[in-house]
Amino acid sequence: MNQYIEETKKGLVHTYNRFPVVLERGEGVYLYDTDGKKYLDFAAGIAVCGLGYGNQELNEALKAQIDCLTHTSNLYYNTTCGRAATALRRITGMDRVFFTNSGTEAIEGALKAARKYAWKKGTGRYEFIAMEHSFHGRSMGAVSVTGSEAYRTPFEPLISGVKFAEFNNLDSVKAQVTDKTCGIILEALQGEGGINRASKEFMEGIRKLCDQEGILMICDEIQCGMGRTGEMFAWQSYGTRPDIMAMAKAIGSGLPVGAFAMTEEVAEYSLEPGDHGTTYGGNPLACAAVAKTVEIFEREDIVAHVREIGAYLKERLKELAAESDQVLECRGIGLIQGIKVKKPVGEIINRALERGLLIISARDNVIRLLPPLIIEKEQIDEMIEKLKWAFNQ
Ligand SMILES: *Cc1c(COP(=O)(O)O)cnc(C)c1O
Repeated sequence: MNQYIEETKKGLVHTYNRFPVVLERGEGVYLYDTDGKKYLDFAAGIAVCGLGYGNQELNEALKAQIDCLTHTSNLYYNTTCGRAATALRRITGMDRVFFTNSGTEAIEGALKAARKYAWKKGTGRYEFIAMEHSFHGRSMGAVSVTGSEAYRTPFEPLISGVKFAEFNNLDSVKAQVTDKTCGIILEALQGEGGINRASKEFMEGIRKLCDQEGILMICDEIQCGMGRTGEMFAWQSYGTRPDIMAMAKAIGSGLPVGAFAMTEEVAEYSLEPGDHGTTYGGNPLACAAVAKTVEIFEREDIVAHVREIGAYLKERLKELAAESDQVLECRGIGLIQGIKVKKPVGEIINRALERGLLIISARDNVIRLLPPLIIEKEQIDEMIEKLKWAFNQ
């Protein structure tokens, strides 16, 4: 195990303080390290592995695609890209999709699409309003709209024309609107920001504001999307369709793939040949993963499972909160839940790791629970027991 750790430490730019485990294989909702120690996974590779590990149907589809063709570039058509787009259009209700390799690139594309729309319409609009405590990724455009100074400051000057408003405070957003505003970007449920759900009034208010002022509503569904809240995408529970949305993480079940999608109305005035591109984006392998992931989600009705099991998780967390003096608040929905704790969250996470439970943190001393969406009741019980142990150390 040490050999892998040493080699990684020596060779990689030190941007992550990693936990001292080397994960080697996975099965269902469990991961195993190189010593054979078993971990119950409540992180899912940061909300990526919705179907857990070792899904044979998915693996067979990927293996078959590898044997067929993995890459072609976007200069030619391939056999999986259209199918993946059709699948995403069906579950998002959006009209047109652009595939990327990551979440941050999906955000870059969404921002460019919004700027191009304003440019083509000749409105002179270019400003974005983003939310405090939001997280949209690490590339320059995505960092520019990320509501955390620590992530932005070392990289300034960033893209110009970005203003921040308070999440769930419509007046605060309205105060930032000018005749130059081209887009409002937000997560219906902030993940990194500490598991904060948008209120119904806020989402509806943003939609209305955008319609009144001619602003595009951009939803970042990278973390809260793809079934995790008990809807395919979190905005769907509000009935407030965005004009542009970004996806990634769970849509490829572990293959690096993201996408941004838009309505036909936006597409008509937005990106055209030559405006945007990607060498890998939408390659046959990534799109095979997206198409198969959506197929399994729909056939197995993963969303219904998340609603049912998410309610059980919530119930167990409430019990835990009632009996533990460590818990300040439980918040979240479905299988994206946060537990705000008194003790430094890092200590609890380390104790949980010892006990064979993988959990991660979010802002504000929040433990973030993001299990694979296929989790069952017994495994939630197992998590609660391990977490109680970690609390009491
Ligand atoms: C993870 C995340 C991103 C960035 O995605 P990457 O694939 O890491 O670039 C953007 N927005 C949200 C809400 C995320 O959770």
